[in-house]
Amino acid sequence: MEIIVASGNKNKIREIGQMLSGKAEVRGMSDYGVNVEIEENGSTFLENALIKAKAVSEILGKPVIADDSGIVAEALGDAPGIYSARYAGEGKDDEENNKKLINELKGKSKRAYFISVIVLYYPDGSYIFGEGRAYGSVIDEKRGNNGFGYDPIFLSDDLEKTFGEASAEEKNGVSHRYRALCDLMSKL
Ligand code: IMP
Repeated sequence: MEIIVASGNKNKIREIGQMLSGKAEVRGMSDYGVNVEIEENGSTFLENALIKAKAVSEILGKPVIADDSGIVAEALGDAPGIYSARYAGEGKDDEENNKKLINELKGKSKRAYFISVIVLYYPDGSYIFGEGRAYGSVIDEKRGNNGFGYDPIFLSDDLEKTFGEASAEEKNGVSHRYRALCDLMSKL
């Protein structure tokens, strides 16, 4: 079975591929020649995942999955939340996003969670979705070079180390993305 992911984010595609290894062949949309820039103008993770999955499913006429994810710091309301990828501004990198989050949390509770919503969208317009969370706290200094995004500053409650220090297997056993995928598969 082949699964198409509506994303240009190689890290997400890699993780979904690792988690479904042996069960499905996971491909990014660019493997199907789709390289569109999709405007994520929804106001929730679900809306944004749906926008991405629907757009690519309509182009290809096939079922497509999309993940919308981010980190939510409890002391900052819903932030960075759906804006996690561009928290420090458009075109800024992970390093700058991490620095901004550390700065915003100075003197505040460091509790945070990662959240992922994964939508499976069918060409007939129907869809199902799953949601997963991973709880932990934001630390002031990067630890570990694995993973991507906020992984090196996210100390996982489950692993008692950062996602940046965790192996792919360790992260993929407890991550928000893994839990969203399990939730989605339980609805299939
Ligand atoms: P999206 O493409 O709008 O879903 O962007 C998600 C953003 O959230 C990423 O660019 C990362 O900054 C952050 N993020 C989501 N999942 C993870 C993860 O597993 N580890 C680290 N950062 C993540």
